[in-house]
Amino acid sequence: MSKRPCYWSRTILDREILSDLFKMIAHFNVKVNISSSDLAFIARGKLAIWLFCGMISAMERTQLKDLRSKEEKRRAAAADTRPRTTLSFYRYVKISDPKAFRERLLTKLAELDCLGRIYVATEGINAQMNVPKMYWDQFDVWVQNQPELKGIPYKIAVEEGEMPSFFRLTIKVRPKIVADGLDDSTFDVTNTGEYLTAAQMNEYVDDPNAVIFDMRNNYESEVGHFKNAITPDDFVTFRDELKRTPELLNDHKDKKVAIYCTGGIRCEKASAWLKHNGFKDVRHLKGGIIDYARQVKEQGLPNKFKGKNFVFDERLGERISDDVIATCHLCKETKCDTHQHCKNQICHTLFIGCDACMEKHHGYCSWSCAQMDKLPRRFKKHVARWYNQVIRKRQPFKKTKLA
Ligand SMILES: [Zn+2]
Ligand SMILES: [Zn+2]
Repeated sequence: MSKRPCYWSRTILDREILSDLFKMIAHFNVKVNISSSDLAFIARGKLAIWLFCGMISAMERTQLKDLRSKEEKRRAAAADTRPRTTLSFYRYVKISDPKAFRERLLTKLAELDCLGRIYVATEGINAQMNVPKMYWDQFDVWVQNQPELKGIPYKIAVEEGEMPSFFRLTIKVRPKIVADGLDDSTFDVTNTGEYLTAAQMNEYVDDPNAVIFDMRNNYESEVGHFKNAITPDDFVTFRDELKRTPELLNDHKDKKVAIYCTGGIRCEKASAWLKHNGFKDVRHLKGGIIDYARQVKEQGLPNKFKGKNFVFDERLGERISDDVIATCHLCKETKCDTHQHCKNQICHTLFIGCDACMEKHHGYCSWSCAQMDKLPRRFKKHVARWYNQVIRKRQPFKKTKLA
C-alpha cells in the first residue's frame, strides 16, 4: 500500500494574530530609547519576524495541500495496485462556503485514498475521481450524508485502464464549476432542456427531423461521436463553442435539438443558453456519453455512439464501440484513436499517434520537439519560458490538434 500523502493541517496563527504582532513591534520601537547597536538588533529581530510571518502565510496558502512532487505522486499511484472505481458526478447546488466545503471534502477523500480532480464553487460541484473498491461503501455513505450531495447520481466508468485514472487528488475552489464564459445573470440558468435517456437518444439519432449536436471540443469528437451528429471541428474550448452554437444551429431553430457531452454537465448550461437564444425544443443526454454507455449495456439497447469517449483523466478515453474513426496525426494514414501527450514536457501537446509513429518518433509530436528535449536542463528552462510566453499565449488551450 502506498504511503499516505502528508496534508498541511490548519495553521494556528491567523492574520489577526500576525497584525497584533506587528503592532507590538511598532510600539516597542517608539517606547524604547535606542542606540545604533540596539537598532541593528531590532532590525535583525524584525527581519526574523518578517521571515517567520512570510513562512506562516505561505503555510496558510498551502494548507491541506499534498506537498509531494508530481513525480512522487505518479510513482506512488502507479505502485498502488488496489483495484479502483473511476467515477464522475456533478450538481448545481448552492454551496455557501466553498472553502469550508473543500476542506471537508479533501479531509475525507484523502482519508479514503481517493484520487481525482474536483472543482467546487458557490454554484456547485464537478468531480472526476477514483475510489479504492475496498472503500467504496464508506465513500458512498459519506457522500450521500452530505446535505449538498444527498441523492447525487454517479457516472461510473465503463472501463479502467492498466494505470490508475488519476495520480493525485486536487480540489480547487473556482468561480464556476465549468469554464463556459457565460454571464449567468443575463439568462435563466435554471431553464434547462429536458433530459433524454439512452433509448430516447437512439430515437433522435434515427429521426431525420431531429438535430444532434456535439457540445464537446474537436479533439474529443474526433475519436468518437453519435451517428449523424454535428461535430464542429474548429473549437478547442467549450467557451468558444458555446458562444458560436446558436449561430451554428441557426437553421435548425424549429427542429428538435439534442445536445450531448461527456458526463452531461456542459449541457446543463448549454441547453438553457440555447433556449434563451430562441431554440424551442432543446433536450440533452442525461449523464452524457458515460451514462449512455452504461444504459446501453444494461438495457441491451443498440449502440449509436461510434468510437471512443474522450475522458479527462490519465486513460484519455473509454472505448464505447469497436469502430476506430480517427487517423494518426503523424503519418495521416493509419486508422488510430489513441491520444498521446508529446514526450517533450515543454510542448506536451495532445495528439493522435499510431504505434508505428510513436516508435519512429520516440514519443515526440515533431522533429523540433525531439531536438528541444535534447537541450541541457539550464537551456530548457529558458526555452520553456519563451514557449509559454510566446507560443502558448497564441494557443488558447494546450490540447491543440496538430495541423
Ligand atoms: Zn502514424
Ligand atoms: Zn511536441
